[in-house]
Amino acid sequence: MAKSGLVQIAMAAAASLLMAACVTPWPPTDTPKTADAPPPLTIDRLPADFVHNGGEPRSADTIDMIVIHTIGGPLCEAGEIRFAEIGGSAVFWRDWFLDQDDKSIHYVIGRDGAIAQQRPDLRTAGHVSFHGVRENVNRRSIGIELVNDGDGKDPFPPAQIEAVTALVKKLSADYGLGPEDVFSHSELDPRRLEGCGDNYRRVDPGPLFPMTDLKAALAD
Ligand SMILES: [Zn+2]
Repeated sequence: MAKSGLVQIAMAAAASLLMAACVTPWPPTDTPKTADAPPPLTIDRLPADFVHNGGEPRSADTIDMIVIHTIGGPLCEAGEIRFAEIGGSAVFWRDWFLDQDDKSIHYVIGRDGAIAQQRPDLRTAGHVSFHGVRENVNRRSIGIELVNDGDGKDPFPPAQIEAVTALVKKLSADYGLGPEDVFSHSELDPRRLEGCGDNYRRVDPGPLFPMTDLKAALAD
């Protein structure tokens, strides 16, 4: 999905964020956490008066699916599958999606667990292009992108898993959803990757993503 130039930009962005993170404000203002306190769900949202050019307004009762993606995915080059290395923060990729005409997403979650919102929940986003498994997926779903290579080998750090779990729990509570309403992108798009034999076009979020644990957390 990402071109190599973009990946380099993303990695540069990640490096500069890392450097910025080294400048720790002092004294610390956070209060101590208790051992059992859940991580706070902090979402970087666009300003309330931000004008969204794409998508359509929708009511809360039309939302009955959550779809999990990874930013990276299989690229077919001269008959060979290749995966790009995906750097960059949640905000970097949220801003990248804002510049795309043909794809959009509700939330992006970084490797560090930071969450950025691109589209409001009550506006459709274009993140699934196949509608033969479930109809009107983009009209009825909330899409979440994880910053990850999407090759099935790149691990999801614990902070990212904690963040996606907390976000999906919140969305499930907000819209009355259950474990059966959470989907991998790959299960919604069974098409093969053109020019690359039997390889699938979409494999995200892949075997390392703890989908069973995520669904179990919703049943708590
Ligand atoms: Zn996807």
